[in-house]
Amino acid sequence: MRSCDVLIIGGGPAGSTAAWKLRRAGADVLVLDRERFPRLKLCAGWITPEVVRDLDMDLEAYPHRLLTFPRLRVHIGRLHVPVPCVQHSIRRFEFDAWLLERSGAPLEQHNVRRIVRDADGFVIDDAIRCRWLIGAGGTRCPVYRTLFRELNPRASELQIVTLEHEIQYDWQDSDCHLWFFDHGLPGYSWYVPKEQGWLNVGVGGIAERLKRGGHDLRQHWAHLTAMLEGRLAPGARYDPSGYSYYLRGRVDVVRRDNAFITGDAAGLATRDLGEGIGPAIRSGLRAAQAIVEGEPYRLEDVTGASVGSIARSMLGRATRTSVFSGRRQTPGGGPAHGLRHRDQ
Ligand SMILES: Cc1cc2nc3c(=O)[nH]c(=O)nc-3n(C[C@H](O)[C@H](O)[C@H](O)COP(=O)(O)OP(=O)(O)OC[C@H]3O[C@@H](n4cnc5c(N)ncnc54)[C@H](O)[C@@H]3O)c2cc1C
Repeated sequence: MRSCDVLIIGGGPAGSTAAWKLRRAGADVLVLDRERFPRLKLCAGWITPEVVRDLDMDLEAYPHRLLTFPRLRVHIGRLHVPVPCVQHSIRRFEFDAWLLERSGAPLEQHNVRRIVRDADGFVIDDAIRCRWLIGAGGTRCPVYRTLFRELNPRASELQIVTLEHEIQYDWQDSDCHLWFFDHGLPGYSWYVPKEQGWLNVGVGGIAERLKRGGHDLRQHWAHLTAMLEGRLAPGARYDPSGYSYYLRGRVDVVRRDNAFITGDAAGLATRDLGEGIGPAIRSGLRAAQAIVEGEPYRLEDVTGASVGSIARSMLGRATRTSVFSGRRQTPGGGPAHGLRHRDQ
């Protein structure tokens, strides 16, 4: 039987960040993921300045598509509010593979089915033994299912359902748009442009409230795409897929002996916007720190609401307006197509 010190199940942002931190401390780490990377991950790919800081990312050196928004455009009914703040978009297909590669940890394609705990640690599918185990397998993480579900059941009222599609599209408006509560949606829909002609659009809402209100998410999708056809994305063609995950509720038990759950496996997406990449990354860092430095695994500084981070970014922007003063402009006065942070 093979063995390693730390086994990480799931190579998304939570798993790759934990692996990166552990490898930098010299730990013997193995990452298992059922998918072959780069892999498709349904996600709008919006990331915050906190993510960039936590990952110690040099935006100039990031080798894939990255777009920086100088503002979010928030729409609530007839209210249309530009929110000046710095946020970014990436393509998960590229970003997740890059993070994993950068971690320097070995990655194996393996769909984990069985986890057994014994006196020396954990045995995975009768094939791999480890002393420490990090569950980073997203909503259906086998570590959550085997070791945590009974102690830490997920609250059904916090389940979000989504429909989205990322397409190649020569968009003209490079701002990120969010529509809240449109046609009674208990959630929001989005238009998130990516660098070099990619576009992500989607709708997401609280599953129970959708059901209670007799809503059909596909109908909300139809409202969104009809509106985009008339305004932001004429001629775009979609074939959306669905995915479900959990907003942050009480996360009482996230560590059992030498086993941890992180990211979506622990249900850490923010309560207001369902932002999950930042919390996945921060929790991955904290789990690794607990192993390397013997610190308690605490989630106090894992953000539970995105609005605070957006407000911080707004304040930061107010004091750094010169950063944007040299932006390229399109002939229509809007921002240039494919604007990277270095263009600003
Ligand atoms: C439509 C949609 C849009 C979103 N938009 C945003 C956004 O714009 N910004 C944001 O911050 N968040 C967004 N989120 C949330 C965000 O995508 C997640 O919170 C984030 O990906 C969580 O990261 P993770 O590493 O915990 O899990 P994941 O990224 O889900 O990674 C888990 C990995 O585990 C692997 N795995 C699962 N089961 C097994 C198994 N049995 N064996 C081995 N491997 C396994 C999977 O293949 C996967 O690679 C969105 C979510 C959805 C659904």
